[in-house]
Amino acid sequence: MAEWEACIGMEVHAELLTDSKMFCSCVNAFGGEPNTRCCPVCTGMPGSLPVMNRKAVEMVLRTALALNCEISMTSIFHRKNYFYPDLPKNYQISQYGDTPIGKRGWLDVPANGRIVRVHIRRVHLEEDTGKLFHLPTGESAVDYNRSGVPLMEIVTEFPPDMHSAEEARAYLETLRSVLVYLGVCDGRMEQGSLRCEPNLSVRPGGGDTFGVKTELKNLNSFRAVQRGIEYEIQRHIAVLESGGKVVQETRGWNDERGESFSMRTKEYEQDYRYFPEPDLVPVQFSEEWIEQVRASLPELPLTKRQRFIEQYALPEYDATLLVEDRCTADYFEEVVALGAEPKAAANWMNGDLARLINAAGIESVRECKVTPRDLRDLIALVQKGTITGSVAKQVLEEVFQTGAEPSQVVQAKGLTQVSDADQLIAWVRQAIEENPDAAEKVRNGKMQTLQFLVGQVMKLSRGRANPNEVRRLIGEELGVTVE
Ligand code: ADP
Ligand code: MG
Ligand code: ZN
Repeated sequence: MAEWEACIGMEVHAELLTDSKMFCSCVNAFGGEPNTRCCPVCTGMPGSLPVMNRKAVEMVLRTALALNCEISMTSIFHRKNYFYPDLPKNYQISQYGDTPIGKRGWLDVPANGRIVRVHIRRVHLEEDTGKLFHLPTGESAVDYNRSGVPLMEIVTEFPPDMHSAEEARAYLETLRSVLVYLGVCDGRMEQGSLRCEPNLSVRPGGGDTFGVKTELKNLNSFRAVQRGIEYEIQRHIAVLESGGKVVQETRGWNDERGESFSMRTKEYEQDYRYFPEPDLVPVQFSEEWIEQVRASLPELPLTKRQRFIEQYALPEYDATLLVEDRCTADYFEEVVALGAEPKAAANWMNGDLARLINAAGIESVRECKVTPRDLRDLIALVQKGTITGSVAKQVLEEVFQTGAEPSQVVQAKGLTQVSDADQLIAWVRQAIEENPDAAEKVRNGKMQTLQFLVGQVMKLSRGRANPNEVRRLIGEELGVTVE
């Protein structure tokens, strides 16, 4: 059987975080009472005229620079003509042709333990459409609040650089974090502010022609992107191996069923009757503007990750998690600047703190009650031996819930580590008495069981017993050597 190679390109749409819409002063925000954030311009009333949002242009410029693109010094807009009820003007203002704001760039993507350089064909600016709702009554309704929201499109280069679902997912994750770092998009796939449409085809490995592609829509999570692509690759292979032909079409993804389905056959460029938008002047960039925006670019995730690995001697895994969003990375650096040991800070942030934040449904570490100072203090309490690691977990949880200071929690709850030999021996003897079978096993040299007895003592002491001392004392009591 032939070895198949998948070729994957990606179109990503990102709603920009401007205050107002692309061509009018209506509010740009998710949701809202339907049809309350619109005006004659964004609902396409005859005689209304668009005025360009400078901030939106600058956000696309910022993204294009961060993606290593060439900038079109003069960039024009087009009308893409088609009828659909969510598009009141019957055309979308978009950038078509060879003057997108950014072109010929690239993004380095960590995937499967190596870096894949994904080339970018274009980064351009357009406007979003309204939203259709199909009601249970059989009627359809349309909400124009989203109509005219600034939308950036980022398209990867042909020939495609991505060849697996993991790489495509990694590209999207990396791109998302870059956009969020840049402050140009909130990256909320579940709210549709970041949407992606993978295009893929399959060919015999090593071939120099490309297969017929299909495009996938309705993917609203990273997981759906990966599953959808995996499914499509297998579907293409099955069609080709049974001697069939892949039809060029747009397909939807049904996440519940784990299946794609045909939506419509592909429309072609000429169907849209593109022509230059007569109501807008071209965007002209100056060297000054470009250099000013370039100088304001933040350190991007991949660079930050490398710096974290070198500067703080962190394993790649820890660094990758910490740089996922800028806020977490900044928080980590603050904890370390306050004197905490970097690896300990990373462990707490990626471990127990991340778990608490997820469980509470909080968006960012900044919104939780644990301050960088609290985390620094907690780490210090463990390192000085004032509390045990297991008590520290309880303390963190308490600080997280109440915002109290770690040392206060330790005081108020009497959680100080117990190293007093008499107290420890009393707990050790109780644990041995209550678990005679386990004790017998340890006496006979089954050292794996020792940890069980240590756990029993920790329970009796509510986590306060010095675990190293406990190990030693259990060994002593049972007459075995503990290293
Ligand atoms: P369309 O006009 O159909 O949207 P584009 O030419 O704009 O197609 O390409 C969209 C994306 O699909 C790009 O990322 C491109 O690299 C990718 N692409 C184009 N042809 C193929 C193909 N045969 N196989 C895989 N990806 C492709
Ligand atoms: Mg397309
Ligand atoms: Zn408006």
